[in-house]
Amino acid sequence: MDTLEKLEVLAGSARYDASCASGGSAGNSGVCHSWSDDGRCVSLLKVLLSNECSYDCAYCLNRSSNSVRRATFTVEELVGLVMRFYRRNYIEGLFLSSAVLRSPDETMARMVSVAERLRTRERFGGYIHMKVIPGSSPALVQRAGEVADRVSVNIELPSSGSLSRLAPQKDRNAILGPMSQLGRTIGERVADRRRSRRAPRFAPAGQSTQMIIGASPESDRQILLLSEALYGRMNLRRVYYSAYVPVVSDNRLPVPASGPPLQREHRLYQADWLLRNYGFSAAELLDDTAPFLDEELDPKAAWALRHPEYFPVDINRADYGVLLRVPGIGVTSARRILSARRFAMLDVDGLKKIGVVLKRARYFIVCGGGVVQRDVMVDERPSVVRRRLLEACNALPAPAASRQLVLPGLR
Ligand code: SF4
Repeated sequence: MDTLEKLEVLAGSARYDASCASGGSAGNSGVCHSWSDDGRCVSLLKVLLSNECSYDCAYCLNRSSNSVRRATFTVEELVGLVMRFYRRNYIEGLFLSSAVLRSPDETMARMVSVAERLRTRERFGGYIHMKVIPGSSPALVQRAGEVADRVSVNIELPSSGSLSRLAPQKDRNAILGPMSQLGRTIGERVADRRRSRRAPRFAPAGQSTQMIIGASPESDRQILLLSEALYGRMNLRRVYYSAYVPVVSDNRLPVPASGPPLQREHRLYQADWLLRNYGFSAAELLDDTAPFLDEELDPKAAWALRHPEYFPVDINRADYGVLLRVPGIGVTSARRILSARRFAMLDVDGLKKIGVVLKRARYFIVCGGGVVQRDVMVDERPSVVRRRLLEACNALPAPAASRQLVLPGLR
């Protein structure tokens, strides 16, 4: 196989990894997107070093017992390919993952060599996102953080029981060990660099992880509690949720009646956003009586409907954290409300100018001395408010499909 044939095989094999901003949508294009530490969206060559896996995870296209075309790049082949695309401005960086060759350390050592040669010999200044293979030795994990912008160790499944059932060669400690090491070092290095800009960088775009949704029976509540714990303890920048796509048949796996659970994945991303940016906790969003997110309504609106006692919120008095809990008010509009009301009482027209989505917020607020929606308030008629919110959601235009660059040599 020549290098471009290998690229076709190994970019195709990488497409089910959702750990970047464009999720699994890179398809066979070979390009995905991610965010650099300074907030730029960068296009990355998304590829595996190898798909010749010695493990046999039930859900994976590249599992050892599956019959697929196999390929492995040499370090030099992959370095040459990246530099060719980079110099032609096809890509701004590399997203490198791999199947497990004979051992985690053998695989990790080759991946680290690719990044080291790019950085030192080729003076490659592009972005590198590198997967860390669970079970790799601490020295290799350390080196990965030194040469990559972002690192990630896949948590894979939401519980250790599901991991041992579906990915028996992986174990939770081999995943959490490197993740914890990376989180600790990232935290230390951030503190060092606050003291001195000369302190060496270590994974400046942070670490992330990926979880498969729907291949195992855990509830959304369990998933969000796990994500919350990972954000709190592992210094994680992002958890990526990947709807389970059946690519191999195995009687340990469910057969989704209506395709991959994409709507569930979407709601988990929205709930995750509330955990990271809106001050919600996982236990507030879901409890044992309602352990799954509402697929029809976004998690903030669903929470608001379950908590009518919290409303109406007085726009002219509520503090920032309270404003953020109102459907239709986001981070930007909550900040604008705080600054605008220093000068005058806000009324409905003022809220519209600020950018509050009144068709959602109106059932939950009072402003300018009165309620906005006199006939229907959430504390009195939550079921009517739900229906109206659903109507408002359905009136939104569908998002435009994104287009991906297809690299030469890839169909
Ligand atoms: S380790 Fe498991 S998930 Fe990763 S490539 Fe091998 S079989 Fe697939």
